[in-house]
Amino acid sequence: MTIWDTLVGQAPVVTALQAAVSGRGMTHSWLFTGPPGSGRSNAALAFAAALQCPNGGCGECQDCHLSLVGSHPDVTVVRTDKLSIGVDEVRDLVRRAALAPVGAARQVLVIEDADRLTEQAANALLKAIEEPTDHTVWLLCAPTVEDILPTIRSRCRFVGLTTPTTADVTAYLMRVDGVPEALASYAARASQGHIGRARALARDEATRNRRRDVVAYPVRLTSLGACLNAASNFHEVTQEEAQAITDDLDARDKVDLDAAYGVVERGRRPREYAPALAAMQKAHKTRAKRRHLDVIDRGLMDLASVYRDAISLTLGAPGGLINEEMRGEVAELARASSPEGHLRRIDAIFVAREQMLEFNVPPLLALESMMLALRVPRRSVG
Ligand SMILES: [Zn+2]
Repeated sequence: MTIWDTLVGQAPVVTALQAAVSGRGMTHSWLFTGPPGSGRSNAALAFAAALQCPNGGCGECQDCHLSLVGSHPDVTVVRTDKLSIGVDEVRDLVRRAALAPVGAARQVLVIEDADRLTEQAANALLKAIEEPTDHTVWLLCAPTVEDILPTIRSRCRFVGLTTPTTADVTAYLMRVDGVPEALASYAARASQGHIGRARALARDEATRNRRRDVVAYPVRLTSLGACLNAASNFHEVTQEEAQAITDDLDARDKVDLDAAYGVVERGRRPREYAPALAAMQKAHKTRAKRRHLDVIDRGLMDLASVYRDAISLTLGAPGGLINEEMRGEVAELARASSPEGHLRRIDAIFVAREQMLEFNVPPLLALESMMLALRVPRRSVG
């Protein structure tokens, strides 16, 4: 398996990157775009590895391995849990870019969330990209081209990833993870082309159960009480899931911090320890909040998929449902409201998403008004 095999359903991208690795169409700055889960940062990392690999991305050698896990001395990856990437971080990166590579190849600098660069940070980056050195390659990742300042993107070569098809994801899960076909096909459909999500659904029963609970909401939202319950339940469950992820990370950071300050149990703390600890705790709060929003966001996409299915069913759209395993409930939902009504419900989901992600509305508040907008008439008895 070469490193290119991990880019699911992205044949044109793989062809272009392989050509660049072998010297055709190589340039100093690249912009990887694609919807969440399409693997834009994976693609950038694979490309970084291939640029270091003596065999153009074999997936087996030390250069490939170190690049992919983020420990290659000539591959620097910036990924952030913060909502923005500041100018100091970018200046640091630009300084590193100026150094000669340790190995024979190039310095590769990957910015995973280039859409989160502050204006100042973007300007610092622009200077570096405007005057590239021979041995430096910048790989920027963002959801869309529009997320990047025109001055920066005009200097980049574009690599656009698309959402992989259900068939592509199914085949990938079977081939690489050895997932049985029925489960692979379920996970591929339910993930709607999000590879990481598909793998989690295929691998982890708890993830499947959580999804099943979320997609069960729509038919039950028939009263005010049910809507408010659903909102608080959804808020709580997503928070627990996010917490489970961040707890591990937080604990590891604490161990590292203690080690860095020579702190042992019951021992004396150096004076600089307390402010460092406070700063770390503040960063952890930010991370927890963002993680929670990520988990909510994914749940909202699952929720929207049920209404999409209901519309497809009413309109007799060809192809299977995203939630094939609950066709009966989807049919019930389709009977309860017109396609226009369900379209308005999908809109309400996107409004809630925007309120939380863009306007910092407290999640529970946004979820409550969303669930109320999702209400469907109670079934007539009989
Ligand atoms: Zn290699």
